Amino acid sequence: MTFVFPPAPQASVAVRGEAARFPVRRIFCVGRNYAAHAREMGKDPDREPPFFFTKPADAVVEDGDTIPYPPLTEDLHHEGELVVATGKGGFNIPEADALSHVFGYAIGNDLTRRDLQAEAKELGRPWDFAKGFDRSAVCGPIVKVEEVGHISSGAITLSVNGKERQRGDIADLIWSIPEVIAILSQSIRLEAGDLIYTGTPAGVGALVPGDVCVVEVEGLGSVTTTIGPREAA
Ligand code: MN
Repeated sequence: MTFVFPPAPQASVAVRGEAARFPVRRIFCVGRNYAAHAREMGKDPDREPPFFFTKPADAVVEDGDTIPYPPLTEDLHHEGELVVATGKGGFNIPEADALSHVFGYAIGNDLTRRDLQAEAKELGRPWDFAKGFDRSAVCGPIVKVEEVGHISSGAITLSVNGKERQRGDIADLIWSIPEVIAILSQSIRLEAGDLIYTGTPAGVGALVPGDVCVVEVEGLGSVTTTIGPREAA
């Protein structure tokens, strides 16, 4: 096959303890999956069905990266999250079988242009530009299931410049990881290489240039992101 210009490199993230990298196919994110965060966003955390949004695969940035403060926003927010990395595809995956589709877990930060999201909500417009901008999907190294097992509880915290902003426990997910996989796979056929951001606990807030943001998940270590100045043309 030939192309009219060279195709972009395959988006990927590191796998802990492996030279080989995890090829990222798609990025799915669950909205409002911790009750306290749903409340802080002005929503009733009743167990309404989970909803999803996406980010481009090449929005991934890795542990230690500095990202420029993104354009069109005055309110860039952090959202520390547990990320599920799929190693096997499937459509209509039964909940009981869902964990067999997991390749590993990672620490993520679902960076959000909160002002654009608020405007989109108000005007009934899509969230894409609030959520799916360049370098909006921080994803640390994927830790394989063989190494870490399956994660259903454990602390998740986020700090900015050493000060804690978010704290939750994976056990408090409104929709568990098997439920999220099962429900997502009813909408689209999941494929190996998909990343699923599982939602953020309460305490989301703004990041400004110079901030160092660290997300920790018990058993997975930590992931650091530095916010740089806005990018020039
Ligand atoms: Mn999120």
